[in-house]
Amino acid sequence: MDRSASAGYTCSLAEELAADALDRFLRYVRIDTQAAYGSETYPSTAKQLELSRLLADELRELGASDVELTEHGYVFATVPGDPDAPVVGLIAHVDTTPDVGGTDVQPVVHRGWDGSPIELPGDTTQVLDPEDSEALAVRVGHDIVTSDGTTLLGADDKAGVAEIMAAASYLLRNPEPAHSTVRIAFTVDEEIGQGTRHFDLDAFGADAAYTLDGSGLGELEVETFSADQVVITIRGRSFHPGTAKGKLVNAVKLAADLVAALPADRLSPETTEGREGFVHPNLIEATTEEAKIRFIVRDHDDALLAEHEAFLRALADEVVQREPRARVTVDVSETYRNMRPAIEAHPRVVAAAEEAIRRVGVEPVRALIRGGTDGAMLTASGLPTPNLFTGGQEYHSVREWLSVQDMAAATATIVELARVWAEPDR
Ligand SMILES: [Zn+2]
Repeated sequence: MDRSASAGYTCSLAEELAADALDRFLRYVRIDTQAAYGSETYPSTAKQLELSRLLADELRELGASDVELTEHGYVFATVPGDPDAPVVGLIAHVDTTPDVGGTDVQPVVHRGWDGSPIELPGDTTQVLDPEDSEALAVRVGHDIVTSDGTTLLGADDKAGVAEIMAAASYLLRNPEPAHSTVRIAFTVDEEIGQGTRHFDLDAFGADAAYTLDGSGLGELEVETFSADQVVITIRGRSFHPGTAKGKLVNAVKLAADLVAALPADRLSPETTEGREGFVHPNLIEATTEEAKIRFIVRDHDDALLAEHEAFLRALADEVVQREPRARVTVDVSETYRNMRPAIEAHPRVVAAAEEAIRRVGVEPVRALIRGGTDGAMLTASGLPTPNLFTGGQEYHSVREWLSVQDMAAATATIVELARVWAEPDR
């Protein structure tokens, strides 16, 4: 324990970095960067570029090198360090999820939270109750940031963005003790699975990288789901309903039957946790003539992922068995793969992160992601990229919240990480 730090802070460096990280966070969350599904453009929404532009400007003001805003909206920059040490990449995404409103975010800082339920002022039916959240209950005395309850907060991933910016600012002002060269990347459209679509790994030039896109204090995530998308297309036969007797084959009803045949008590996001996988229908587009059902399929184990897909194929076959005039196709496309095997091939990447977390006074926790991150895609492309905590909680909801003290610990972790990588025995 670092006795020179105030209560709630894990070390004095975290306390020193807290004000800058929070100030940046409160500014960034007010910029609407919501991504959109089904957009034809990249990034999916032009408003994401507003934050990308601001970050590029701020990095230039901080004195970072090689600051670049790419044509796709990525921001790259360098914090120069020891030329003999490996180059460490730090990545966060500027966009927020399309699933919860991100316009006109009004962050509220509950300073020195006293432990009583937090009523969100814009929608008083939204209450953060420590009785329901152990993560919250143990943070009495922390400064807790929430939205006003009508939008998400955007800690996913503006906490990560703010932490990287505050750490970069600190490293640029404090070249001693020595630290590695740090390459920064802010990406767009992560929340719609497109965050690394135009990511140029050679231009990034990192030897190892970390996404700052995790959650609880001390968590280091080296394992993601493996993920596929499955689209089942059912073709019926459309006729004028007045003269359809014996002829109409209604794809709407066939699609509804297929969805109704999914198990109610297992294999869904709402009935699984930990390592359990699922099939999850998240879109239906249907007319009598044609229905498309889109599923996301997830598991940590690739063999089980294939089993879940076989289950969907069997359901599709049953549609045709019941109604031979229908035509059904099943299209599977890979979204991303579990990054664990590739990360385990680079033990130093995980060891350096755990050492950095310990140096800020926190015991590292290996966690697994029930989802994916930019890091999974980068790892698959050859850049080992585990995911570090940011201090944000309850992502993708209007009840999203952030501990400033945990955010400060994440910022300090980044600084220590850059130093660890510059030590000769690393
Ligand atoms: Zn995220």
